Amino acid sequence: MSEVNADEALLDLLVELHLPHERQGPGSTTTTLKALELTGLGPDRPLRVADLGCGTGAAALVLAQHLDAEIVAVDLFDSFLEEFRIRAEARGVSDRISTVQASIDDLPFDDGEFDLIWSEGAIYNIGFATGVHAWRRYLKPGGVLVASEITWLTDSRPPALEEHWLAEYSEIDTASAKFQVLENAGYSPVGYFTLPPSAWTEEYYAPILADLDGFCARHDSQLADQIAQAERDEAQLYETYADYFSYGMYIVRRVR
Ligand code: SAH
Repeated sequence: MSEVNADEALLDLLVELHLPHERQGPGSTTTTLKALELTGLGPDRPLRVADLGCGTGAAALVLAQHLDAEIVAVDLFDSFLEEFRIRAEARGVSDRISTVQASIDDLPFDDGEFDLIWSEGAIYNIGFATGVHAWRRYLKPGGVLVASEITWLTDSRPPALEEHWLAEYSEIDTASAKFQVLENAGYSPVGYFTLPPSAWTEEYYAPILADLDGFCARHDSQLADQIAQAERDEAQLYETYADYFSYGMYIVRRVR
């Protein structure tokens, strides 16, 4: 979920709808682990890690279970962070995590603090180029950034889809263009893959769609109905055009 400049009633409803689910954006344990493997980082040495735009912490929980890491998880919404702390406790990793309520474009960190910065489905809220430029200083030289970002899978696409995304997020681009942005910002490519359809449909949309009737019945409001319809439309858009866009998972190293 994104919509950070919407009004408060809308945000409350969006948070309520997304809070119970494992993830607040497309992704899966399998793809988080695949990206982790590509970083080359493992449990052999202690690491300091940030998960930016963590939601209820799906990625942070996977990282906590597979690394010897202190993980700082950042989100705008305290209810997501609270739910993350509950899940971390339940999985026996609460001693490895801490939470910070902040905006990912205004982070309270020191230069060179982290071995690894992770961000799934969140960087577009501040813009990919802005995010990767701003976050580099918080990495140690040689540190790794893993960020998922909406990406065109082909060099051309149906005009209706292009129009939709240019209105929604004009920074959407191909992987080669995104790597150019990353190189300009002082990173070197380490790995790349795209999220498979199951990370969108089974892991993300299916649980939300299954909740929508209950959500609308509970609230009985026009706003809730509009939110439900927007979720259905978004899922339908993905289903129609899955050949043309996905999240790319960008794994890069800070080189200077
Ligand atoms: N990484 C999680 C959540 C992705 S959804 C996952 O993959 O499941 C995007 C998240 O970014 C939401 O939790 C939202 O609250 C958060 N977010 C949006 N804009 C933000 C901002 N400016 N600063 C911090 N978090 C933000």
